[in-house]
Amino acid sequence: MFGPANDAEVADWVRGLGLPGLVDVHVHFLPESVQRKVWAYFDDAERNYGRAWPIHYRGSEQQRVETLRALGVIGYAPLVYPHKPGMGEWLTEWVAGFAARVPEAVPTATLYPEPSVVRYLDAALRDGARCVKAHVQVGGYDPREEVLDAAWGLLADAGVPVVVHCGHGPLPGEFTGLSVFEDVLRRHPRLTAVLAHAGMPEISRALDLVARYSRVYLDTTMVGVGFTLESAPLPDDWTARLAEVPDRVVLGTDFPSVPYPYAEQVRAIAGWAQAPGLGEPFLRAVLHDTGARLLALGER
Ligand SMILES: [Zn+2]
Repeated sequence: MFGPANDAEVADWVRGLGLPGLVDVHVHFLPESVQRKVWAYFDDAERNYGRAWPIHYRGSEQQRVETLRALGVIGYAPLVYPHKPGMGEWLTEWVAGFAARVPEAVPTATLYPEPSVVRYLDAALRDGARCVKAHVQVGGYDPREEVLDAAWGLLADAGVPVVVHCGHGPLPGEFTGLSVFEDVLRRHPRLTAVLAHAGMPEISRALDLVARYSRVYLDTTMVGVGFTLESAPLPDDWTARLAEVPDRVVLGTDFPSVPYPYAEQVRAIAGWAQAPGLGEPFLRAVLHDTGARLLALGER
């Protein structure tokens, strides 16, 4: 087996690569009331997704912060996302407060197609937001909506990465699919976009976008773990294509709402690194260096 056998081994294993720790661009912290609703949805996953989804890390907020610390995660983007109008600004303000009390967390923001979006996004960027989450499936919106055009432009100009859930997995939405989001990239080719879940299940198309747009990245969230391999198998040329863009892949995990231990995601990545042309330089890039650069760690 390559990589850490369990969560207790993760931090030491990462230090063994010569890294100060992990940088995770895709974790979630939410206001308690929202977090409870999200977990209730996962608890009903057999009805919602057609399969059970037992949340692995269901502690208090403080316990979850400490779990990440124990795993050696030294920097992360706590991502929030609205499912209806009127929540984006409130969530963005809440997460700024969270980042102010948790040193490993960078301030983030979110967006939603609504008249106030440019105002609150611009304010968040001025206040130091370093990463933005856009959830096309949960939000149920078209990312090409005109009201969002200026928001994408603002992010492209600021060079602040947006983690975009625009793939069809785990459930397709009205406007999911990488061809839809590519329309946004065509208009804003300088946008720094991190395709969450490597665009699952359209992983090959996600790699095509990485090849075509120099500021597009993939995150590893739920990619290559047992839970998703059946529904979203990796393309046969996955590692060969990673070797072409080793600095455009970043660690993401969806902590805490995953149905398996954190170590399993790290092991999946360690397994890819066994392929020709990858190895430890690839691991150092994915697990720390690229994420640290995207989140501008060390510049605070
Ligand atoms: Zn997520």
